[in-house]
Amino acid sequence: MKIRVLGCSGGIGDGHHTTSFLIDDDILVDAGTGVTTLSREALARIDHVFLTHSHLDHILCLPLLLDSVAAGRDQAVVLHALPEVLGILKDHLFNWRIWPDFSRIPSVESPYLHYASLEIGESVHLGEREITAIPANHVVPAVGYLLRGNQGSLLYSGDTASHAALWDSVDQATDLEHLLVECSFATAQEAVARASRHYSSETLAADLALMRPEPAVWVSHLKPGNEAIIMAELEVLVPGRVRPLADGMVFEV
Ligand SMILES: [Zn+2]
Ligand SMILES: [Zn+2]
Repeated sequence: MKIRVLGCSGGIGDGHHTTSFLIDDDILVDAGTGVTTLSREALARIDHVFLTHSHLDHILCLPLLLDSVAAGRDQAVVLHALPEVLGILKDHLFNWRIWPDFSRIPSVESPYLHYASLEIGESVHLGEREITAIPANHVVPAVGYLLRGNQGSLLYSGDTASHAALWDSVDQATDLEHLLVECSFATAQEAVARASRHYSSETLAADLALMRPEPAVWVSHLKPGNEAIIMAELEVLVPGRVRPLADGMVFEV
């Protein structure tokens, strides 16, 4: 299983893209602006989209992806997410006012988009690849994903604040090669981090100090302009433990 980082920033500007990962050539995990880096041909090959949550930076390319390539495909794109997340998208996005309801066009019998509810702890198997929703702690219903190939696993936290259940998932994944964990804010923005339920350097470092040393740790969702200060703070608090995730990186598990 090959995982390509299309976008991993907490915002845009200076060439940064928001969160999206391409797995092999047929699965997307989140659909932030990183999706815009793909060719139309690559977009058309995507059969499954897994969403961590409904926030705009993780979904905003999904409506445009469907509009650009769905008509040329012979099967619906399957959208996997918590039932609460699917409900939010149906009510507030695919509602004909913001964007058409692609689960009903061109026809109810043969739509461009198919909704697939996914519960926390549930695994979806696609060929030899296993994708499991893991718990997250955010201001809206949210998950992370454990992505398991035939060589090991990679865990992506999604947007989250400190959450014991996330670290239980890390402990239980004995084949974990890589942890991709968010850290949106520097310590000075701890109040914003707490209110918006994101990690800050201090809260992430406290949790990482308890983690076993083997898996590599990559930091994502850094807020634009704050990348250097967040990484510098983490380097002081947990020396040598973390590296910044970057657009274009490829992982194989
Ligand atoms: Zn979010
Ligand atoms: Zn986000």
